[in-house]
Amino acid sequence: MSEIDSQTIAQSAKTVYVETYGCQMNEYDSEIVREILRRNDFALTDSPDAAGVVLLNTCAIRENAHDKVRARISELRHLKKRNKRLILGVLGCMAQNLKKELLETNTGVDLIAGPDSYKALPVMIDRVHNTGEKEFKLTLSEYETYADVFPTNRHGINAWVAVMRGCDNYCTFCVVPMTRGRERSRDPFNVIEEVRQLADHGFKQVTLLGQNVNSYTFKGFDFAKLITAVANIDGIKRIRFTSPHPKDFPERLIEVVATNSKACKHVHLPLQAGSDRVLDAMNRTYTREHFVALAERMRKLIPGLVLTTDVIVGFPTETEAEFEETLAVMREVQFDSAFMFKYSERKGTVAQRTIPDDISDEVKTERMVRLVDQQRQISYIRNQAHLGQAFEVLVEGYGKRPSQLLGRNDGNKIVVFPDTGAKPGEFVTVRIEEVTPNTLIGVAV
Ligand code: SAM
Ligand code: SF4
Repeated sequence: MSEIDSQTIAQSAKTVYVETYGCQMNEYDSEIVREILRRNDFALTDSPDAAGVVLLNTCAIRENAHDKVRARISELRHLKKRNKRLILGVLGCMAQNLKKELLETNTGVDLIAGPDSYKALPVMIDRVHNTGEKEFKLTLSEYETYADVFPTNRHGINAWVAVMRGCDNYCTFCVVPMTRGRERSRDPFNVIEEVRQLADHGFKQVTLLGQNVNSYTFKGFDFAKLITAVANIDGIKRIRFTSPHPKDFPERLIEVVATNSKACKHVHLPLQAGSDRVLDAMNRTYTREHFVALAERMRKLIPGLVLTTDVIVGFPTETEAEFEETLAVMREVQFDSAFMFKYSERKGTVAQRTIPDDISDEVKTERMVRLVDQQRQISYIRNQAHLGQAFEVLVEGYGKRPSQLLGRNDGNKIVVFPDTGAKPGEFVTVRIEEVTPNTLIGVAV
């Protein structure tokens, strides 16, 4: 090895590259990891080739997320041929399930840290460097909220802020309670301080995050109060939140979304299924009737509300008639858009342990196609109602064509319009002249 090569490698030993898979919570966690490492004298890079430590922050929610990470690990281990001291680490939700697979087989993984172990990373990395032994830390905590770690290097228009971690709901299909542990909420003073700093750095929009965000509670301070407190911070213009659970929508929370001018009139309300029997088997704790009544109440109290949802098709034992009930509820509620998923069996969940995954992939795909097709039509009709309306659009950047700007309205719908010279982070009023199922197209007025 030449002198320059070994010097570069020595320099890169404290250079970290973090790659993120999955949800916004993982994006936020990656920022926490970067911040912890930065405070411990690591340098950050956005290329794995320049790094001495490569960390993959993983997602375990569906099998295809797992597959992607596995493929990426085998790609990255080739970097070790060039840099023998390279440390490859796996963080986040996959860590919990895959300790055995990743450490005992020859995957090239040196380090595994679960979602509550990120503060230990600097020490773990040092140990791998010094001993060459593999390191893992997977214990889940009932207290860790990373309250004292405010990520400082955020980019873009929106800042994600985790206000609670973990989930106690145990939906039978879901691996989150196993991978992220028990629900715990952050001290509101600490959340407010983080948002205040974000506002000082010019962020106008924050999205409050949690696996079950509206069950946020800290010594009697609930989620409605938290939204109100965040809305009182100067400089913050828009507040979003995700993902709420339908069981945690007291009237007070609906009222805050309806009346607080900074609370965006968009609620993501995961339905999951339309049949009461399937909802019960999923342990969702609401019925179809309760869900539809809640959606109607929100639509009545929150003028212009945009409602979106998550749906799973092919939950074990779901019949054709039960799937049609999901289609029917989707027509009844008229969601503006939906994330739709084929059921994916997850190790350690109640469903995996008690109900065989008996719906073939062919049937899941066929149901999925019908669901997506119906939703496309509904989204198109919902968007057509916006023709001629004017929206305040927060500019995010350029559209597909450089002559077009792209931003979002209060309802989180994507709006494109001819470039007015406005910069990302500025508001422009746009009148809608054309729509597709996914996009509103207009002109600045
Ligand atoms: N906590 C949130 C909630 O309850 O809505 C979101 C959790 S998860 C990151 C987002 C969505 O993934 C869920 O709402 C569900 O529709 C879907 N999902 C979770 N587990 C799944 C599984 N095993 N198979 C397919 N989809 C799944
Ligand atoms: Fe998973 Fe259900 Fe918790 Fe959402 S509420 S994270 S779907 S267990």
